[in-house]
Amino acid sequence: MSERKGLGRSGTVGEGTRAVRAGLPEPVKYEPTLPGPVFAAHFHLPGEPTGPYTYGRDENPTWSHLERAIGELEAPGESVGTVAFASGMAAISAVLFSQLKAGEAVVLPDDGYQALPLLRERLEAYGVEVRTAPTGGDAQLDVLDGARLLWIETPSNPGLDVCDVRRLVKAAHSAGALVAVDNTLATPLGQRPLELGADFSVASDTKGMTGHGDILLGHVTCRDPELVAGVRRWRKVVGAIPGPMEAWLAHRSLATLQLRIERQCANALALAEALGSRGEVSGLRYPGLPSDPSYTIASQQMRHFGSVVSFVLPDRGHAERFLSGLRLVDDATSFGGVRSSAERRGRWGGDAVPEGFIRFSVGAEDAVDLVADVLRALDEAAAR
Ligand SMILES: *Cc1c(COP(=O)(O)O)cnc(C)c1O
Repeated sequence: MSERKGLGRSGTVGEGTRAVRAGLPEPVKYEPTLPGPVFAAHFHLPGEPTGPYTYGRDENPTWSHLERAIGELEAPGESVGTVAFASGMAAISAVLFSQLKAGEAVVLPDDGYQALPLLRERLEAYGVEVRTAPTGGDAQLDVLDGARLLWIETPSNPGLDVCDVRRLVKAAHSAGALVAVDNTLATPLGQRPLELGADFSVASDTKGMTGHGDILLGHVTCRDPELVAGVRRWRKVVGAIPGPMEAWLAHRSLATLQLRIERQCANALALAEALGSRGEVSGLRYPGLPSDPSYTIASQQMRHFGSVVSFVLPDRGHAERFLSGLRLVDDATSFGGVRSSAERRGRWGGDAVPEGFIRFSVGAEDAVDLVADVLRALDEAAAR
């Protein structure tokens, strides 16, 4: 990381300061603070074809700014490599397919993102052995023997279980396995996987990282230049590149990351506390709730507990009445955006959840308005 105005190598500035300045180039007279998106399939390139900018599938200056910004958030004050992707799945696939060969074994969570089983099918078709275990209770420890890569998702989506990243990393490394953490739910402000010992921090930046529900994007960050190079090569091979406009919008959104996370996490805790006193609500999960089974480990490795709260209503009809009664909360999938949304997760069929399971993504509204809307919708759903 180069030294830039206001952000030294020390990495000692606060989260808000870091977020608003992350990845900004040195000031140049008459240039904007954050240079606009560069739309280019190719760049002027006389003579020897050396970089940084040659062809648009390999590199783009707008990606470079965003990648530097994400690196500063993932590992303040350290030198790391970040590769931006067209989506979270592109980033996840890049790690799995660049690292694993036929005959090797990978350990996945069995309660992770709903597209992991699709990846499993692909990996197995290529001759990779796939083992799974739940996130909770660090159960992945039991199936590490001889594995090449451990894939962790904590907090898990949608169940919000948490595993002890340091403990799993220690065991994986002594078994000779690399460790990747899907950090989508926490964002680098909530949790820094590389600091906890992981080799890859991976995320869907479609969610809280960009936070406006209007772009898909993903990234991978690692310390080891060889691992970064493998991931970068994979992006070039499959062409899973972000559009310059999306990359620029993402960088612009990072300036408000700390504001959004602080507000949304405070709102999530307020909502979880309000839900805790409702008789019809069971299975309430929020890692920041002191009564939550994840709380102890979460508070040892997370700085913020995320914007997702999950809970169960008595049945499908009850859950549907609740969702349609909400006025300030969209019935929609995804999470991490400034506008609250919620959905009955069972409608997708991919997760092992009860019919009345609600995944609630808490936005940046005023907590008092949001909680009032939820309590009113709960009352109406129960009355019918
Ligand atoms: C959404 C999500 C993904 C996939 O990201 P896309 O940007 O939709 O491709 C991966 N992991 C987790 C935990 C997610 O929530």
